[in-house]
Amino acid sequence: MAEPEVVDVVVVGLGVGGEEVAGRLAEAGLTVVGVERDLVGGECPYWGCIPSKMMIRAANAIAEARRIDGLAGAAEVRPDWAPVAKRIREEATDTWDDTVAVERFTGKGGRFVRGSARLDGLGRVRVGERVFQARHGIVLGTGTKPSVPPVDGLADTPYWTNRQAIEVEELPESLLVLGGGAIGLELAQVFARFGVRVTVVEAADRVLAVEEPEASEVAAAALRADGVEIHTGVRAERVGHDGRGFTLRGAGGARFTAERLLVVTGRRAHLDELGLDTVGVDAGQRYLAVDDRLHVTEGIWAVGDVTGEGAFTHVAMYQAGIVVADVLDHVRRADGGPDASGTARVTGGAVGASGAAGTGGSAGAVPRADYRALPRVTFTDPEVGAVGLTERQARERGINVQVGLSELPSSARGWIHKSGNEGFVKLVADADRGVLIGATSVGPAGGEVLSGLAVAVHAAVPLGRLRQMIYAYPTFHRAIEDALRNLR
Ligand SMILES: Cc1cc2nc3c(=O)[nH]c(=O)nc-3n(C[C@H](O)[C@H](O)[C@H](O)COP(=O)(O)OP(=O)(O)OC[C@H]3O[C@@H](n4cnc5c(N)ncnc54)[C@H](O)[C@@H]3O)c2cc1C
Repeated sequence: MAEPEVVDVVVVGLGVGGEEVAGRLAEAGLTVVGVERDLVGGECPYWGCIPSKMMIRAANAIAEARRIDGLAGAAEVRPDWAPVAKRIREEATDTWDDTVAVERFTGKGGRFVRGSARLDGLGRVRVGERVFQARHGIVLGTGTKPSVPPVDGLADTPYWTNRQAIEVEELPESLLVLGGGAIGLELAQVFARFGVRVTVVEAADRVLAVEEPEASEVAAAALRADGVEIHTGVRAERVGHDGRGFTLRGAGGARFTAERLLVVTGRRAHLDELGLDTVGVDAGQRYLAVDDRLHVTEGIWAVGDVTGEGAFTHVAMYQAGIVVADVLDHVRRADGGPDASGTARVTGGAVGASGAAGTGGSAGAVPRADYRALPRVTFTDPEVGAVGLTERQARERGINVQVGLSELPSSARGWIHKSGNEGFVKLVADADRGVLIGATSVGPAGGEVLSGLAVAVHAAVPLGRLRQMIYAYPTFHRAIEDALRNLR
């Protein structure tokens, strides 16, 4: 067996979360080994957020052009996928090459190792024949992979996951989308706007099932207006492929056919590959259980999707800030410095220098993760932005709930906007505490309007203060004022 090489920290998986942690710890002067088996940057820049939002930007341009009729004359639109595919290839992903990202990391002083890593006992990480002994800690940022349901026949077919959908150079004539969550709806609308005949099949009784039912309704209506067929309450039972196309059979005799099948039914962490048993951690969990400083167990932290705290890039980045602060605090304590893990405040030092997220970048106590005001945006048109609890979640927790809703089309800005103005603002308040605990903002700028609502939930701004605020006229966010008036 190879002699272990001693370093300060090993980061396994350099996706959004891992790359951020590894880079910042290296910049703080630690010897950091970052291990990545695929592309540095992870899912977001190569097969997730960035290319999918480029696709959405293009599809929305088509939709806006089509809205010229009746507003500003007439426009003839001839969609062409070639510039979208080219932009994804050349601008977003460097043809799925991570040279720039690797250099970004090594430029910060990190040491890059390409390969698959697994834990090999306390403080040890094995990558092939190489073994690293981490003096101060190991950070697991291994993300998730598509979760493919055990539908009869599916595994033997050339179905797409998000990866093939993002890499596509030539669009199919028709597409079945299995899964009506955020990713499924975003991609379904994009492809439909480029002329693909799209059918969405969802097992739950509505699309975007985790969000407010009103949001599901608006999103489904918008997709239908784009020509997308949506079938909810259909559990897929069998999938076949005859060389030319797919057939999906659902419970109750439903049958759908298309040239391509995209499976977007959620994502799953693969803990069984990580050697967790060698450090006494249960590999049978769905996600890596962590505490509010992202500790898995002594000397091991986790960051990003693998923690199951919300599969979003902004969650991975937020958690990365906490991990960086906590690891540096451990290092400082190991060196005999003051303890910043509780309420003690430290001045100067590496934590402040590295600008931990959640602390506003200033030196101080290691921040604790708090997901009460977790924002999320589904980038359909209209966008569905949401933060905190839905009405149902709040009621299930026994909270004394008040709800206020205002429709965008009947707001001044919505009325002016006219075509494409679908949406609403829905507020969920804790009547006893007099604060918002959740909000949904659907509309042409739903994700942007969400920002003010996220501040309100995050900072627990009293409803009275929110009612006294001045809301610029005629913005979409003025609908918040109307929704506040409607709280009951
Ligand atoms: C189509 C799509 C659209 C999305 N859009 C958005 C969006 O608009 N906004 C948003 O916030 N989020 C979005 N997301 C989610 C976002 O991409 C993820 O939340 C984010 O990538 C999570 O980062 P991560 O670092 O946790 O994991 P990943 O990005 O998954 O990175 C994990 C890395 O670890 C590596 N790895 C795993 N195991 C090992 C091992 N044993 N050894 C070495 N390396 C390993 C993997 O190769 C991978 O590169 C989208 C996702 C998809 C699929």
